[in-house]
Amino acid sequence: MSRTICRWSLRVFCTCAVLVCSGAAQAENEASTAPPLIVIRAGKLIDGASATARSNQLVFVRGERIESVTDGAAAIPAGAKVIDLSGATVLPGLIDSHTHLFLWGEDPAKGGYDANILNAGIALRAARATSAARRALEQGFTTIRDVETEGAGYGDIGIKQAIAEGTIPGPRIFGATLGISTTGGYNLEGYAPELKMPKGVQIVDGPVEARKAAREQLDHGADWLKVYMTHRSWVDKDGKLVSQPTLTVEELEAIVDEAHGWKKKVACHAYNGIGLQRALDGRCDSIEHGLEMTDAQIRQMQQQETWYCPTLSPYYEDWASADTPQGKRDRARAAVHETTFKKALQAKLKIVYGTDIGGMPWTVPMAIEFKRMVGLGMAPMAAIQSATSKAAEMLDMPGEIGVIAPGAYADVIAVPADPLQDIAALDHVTFVMHDGSVFKNEASR
Ligand SMILES: [Zn+2]
Repeated sequence: MSRTICRWSLRVFCTCAVLVCSGAAQAENEASTAPPLIVIRAGKLIDGASATARSNQLVFVRGERIESVTDGAAAIPAGAKVIDLSGATVLPGLIDSHTHLFLWGEDPAKGGYDANILNAGIALRAARATSAARRALEQGFTTIRDVETEGAGYGDIGIKQAIAEGTIPGPRIFGATLGISTTGGYNLEGYAPELKMPKGVQIVDGPVEARKAAREQLDHGADWLKVYMTHRSWVDKDGKLVSQPTLTVEELEAIVDEAHGWKKKVACHAYNGIGLQRALDGRCDSIEHGLEMTDAQIRQMQQQETWYCPTLSPYYEDWASADTPQGKRDRARAAVHETTFKKALQAKLKIVYGTDIGGMPWTVPMAIEFKRMVGLGMAPMAAIQSATSKAAEMLDMPGEIGVIAPGAYADVIAVPADPLQDIAALDHVTFVMHDGSVFKNEASR
């Protein structure tokens, strides 16, 4: 017995000795292979979280993270690579919380939504999504929440993998994969009833199918789930906007319960009325669009701390002529949306920036939504934070993205002018660093 103990002790000693030796060697190795230091000199810094901008700052980046942020007078170690953005305003990489990499616009003159599915093969769609991912990054959006692929299956997760392995450039992606709605609750539609048309989402009926769809999507890598709680919309005889509800509360609850068990969240497309109410009663984590919300629904969002992703911009695109039912609907949607957005600001709802790009062509500048938000009364700094630290909070990455602070991923962008003076400055992103790698630099001196 004692011999056994002895042998065991010896083995522990040896193992420890090896560990100590290899530990020392490793420390030495790390010192020699530590990633080089990059120092960004920022003329003005909007850090994504603070209430005000700071002038003349230094951002120290090592590897994929920010090491420290100091006053401009601090010493820069010899050998550090300096990126001089002293003539620019530096901000955290932006976050668009509502994109569709796999949509290529819905212009009726180009076949509308249906052409995306009926005319484009999957290779073409993947090529377009690859281009869209690059578009997002070059415009300074280093993170996107891509809220379903519109019939392109798990393509968003494939694009995310291609970016992660360095095959293509692109932002950090939170993918919602297929999306979920009910029978009668999504395109393609309007075809002969004998035809079995493909759908832009996974169709479910009943809580069992709803939960199964959630499980399948989560199993195949969904970071979020996207549920359509309303579908068709029109104007009734009194001129009021009506939207068709889709899932029942029971069906939605099955999805939310499943997602929350996986520690994931659920985004709900909801315009107004019954469908929006069911989205809130089923405890959606974020309301997408939310065109028309009653005071009681806004209060419920406050109480439940529901996120609001308004996506104002697409509702100003492709209006049908004013004397048609579609034209009346298009104008009614924009009108109620403006009122709701202003009420949401007053109620201090938790607002995140989302463009719905893809629904609009990817040639539209992704900064378009900043102008809409500020135009309707949002303070420029609040609008910027909706696309930085606020979105990071919704995505459960506070302090890691959407902020320029020690420990955060080095997602850093720059614009030549001050967006607090003119929000349109964000249209002209001249510098993009993503995870510590410079992707675009037209700014440094
Ligand atoms: Zn959308």
